[in-house]
Amino acid sequence: MGLIIRSSAIHAAGCYTTSPIRKGTRVAEYDGPRLSKDEADTCYEDSPITYLFGLGDGSIVIDGHCMAMFINHSCDPNCETEEIDGRVWITAIRDIPAGEEITYDYCLYDGGDDEAHCNCGARKCRGTMYSREETRKRMAATRKPRTRRGNRKTTQARA
Ligand SMILES: [Zn+2]
Repeated sequence: MGLIIRSSAIHAAGCYTTSPIRKGTRVAEYDGPRLSKDEADTCYEDSPITYLFGLGDGSIVIDGHCMAMFINHSCDPNCETEEIDGRVWITAIRDIPAGEEITYDYCLYDGGDDEAHCNCGARKCRGTMYSREETRKRMAATRKPRTRRGNRKTTQARA
């Protein structure tokens, strides 16, 4: 299996396979120094581009320094990520022909004001690289409550 980095229609550079990959194959490891969430926030406070990958509950992040950091997001990806014993693998979820760009769903979270627009071009593109759960949270945060409740008396039941 050979991976190469070249320009991509999705975003700047992308990662491509030069040979066919079978479903279930580990394509690459997302590797790099491990930072605490706070360290990463301080390091990349003013940086528009980051290659951070949250481990477990997100308190530790991998500061990507590897081939896998060039893999682009797609809403209809050919790979997924697996976390095994603190290591992150990009694994094929279907057979991938030679020459195809490797992609996985970033499922972004915690991006502040960044809209993280998606350009993956998939038919079922959700328009953002945030996870579905994060998108729901963001929607809820911007929605204003519309229901009036008036003043209600609350009576406590007595035993
Ligand atoms: Zn998309």
